[in-house]
Amino acid sequence: MYLTRLVYVSRVCAGFNVSDIEGILAAAKEYNAKQCITGMLCFTPEYFLQCLEGGRANVNKLYQRILLDERHSDILLLDYQEIKERDFPEWSMGYIPNNKITNEINLKYSGGRDFNPYEMRGESCTAMMKALANSSR
Ligand code: FAD
Repeated sequence: MYLTRLVYVSRVCAGFNVSDIEGILAAAKEYNAKQCITGMLCFTPEYFLQCLEGGRANVNKLYQRILLDERHSDILLLDYQEIKERDFPEWSMGYIPNNKITNEINLKYSGGRDFNPYEMRGESCTAMMKALANSSR
């Protein structure tokens, strides 16, 4: 099974709040572990940014389920590629909360201080999530 990485951004739908994230993470951890999918999810009041890594068919199947989810909208694929190794092998689905996404980290990986993944390169998004995951160990 070809190892694949997929990164997308989406807008959080009205009414969704930080306590609802627990439900997504619980479902994700259970399903992803069974499918050997790993990755990272960033959540702010405006955006979801998620990286999914795993076998090509499994990642595509999960992405198709996520596309149907009414808890977010304007889903934009930022990066899709075959990879040599995982960036998040220890996380069935890691979570980066809003307060970790500082002006400094935005400045390092994007053109400004504000977090807006619609204006970022997919590879920069992955690098940023990797840096944030490593800093929260
Ligand atoms: P069902 O459970 O039958 O749900 C059908 C629809 O009902 C969903 O599409 C959604 O619109 C809605 N729904 C389901 N549960 C709730 C709820 N608790 N509250 C409100 N509405 C609900 N799933 C994973 O397995 N792995 C992931 O990595 C993952 N990442 C996600 C990231 C984001 C940003 C979002 C929004 C969802 C994510 N999910 C993830 C959840 C995924 O979209 C599906 O809901 C889940 O996989 C169950 O799929 P299903 O086909 O069984 O849908």
